[in-house]
Amino acid sequence: MLRREKRLERKIAKERISILLNMADKMKFEDYALARRYVELAKKIAMRYRIRISKDQKRNFCKKCLYPYRHDRVRVRVRKSRVMITCLNCGFIRRIPIRPIKSSQSKKINEVNKK
Ligand SMILES: [Zn+2]
Repeated sequence: MLRREKRLERKIAKERISILLNMADKMKFEDYALARRYVELAKKIAMRYRIRISKDQKRNFCKKCLYPYRHDRVRVRVRKSRVMITCLNCGFIRRIPIRPIKSSQSKKINEVNKK
């Protein structure tokens, strides 16, 4: 019996997820429903192969209704220590905490700025 190459499968799945999410981003103003479908597929692949969708990618769509965030379909508010994104499709409010930059990180930023 042929052994499944799970590592390879997951690698391919990862590629497909990023392709689907990129397509969703491109299509969101042309065909919103199709863009949502791309996100849905990406999420399904991620679950099937137990892959995390990266933080940056996650912030491009509503996790409740899976519609990609579009400037005319969301409202963004900034509170003291968090950004609140309200999805106007389903009303889901996502809160993203903002943490102050750690000293090690700010050092790096200063170094980059000096250059
Ligand atoms: Zn939503």
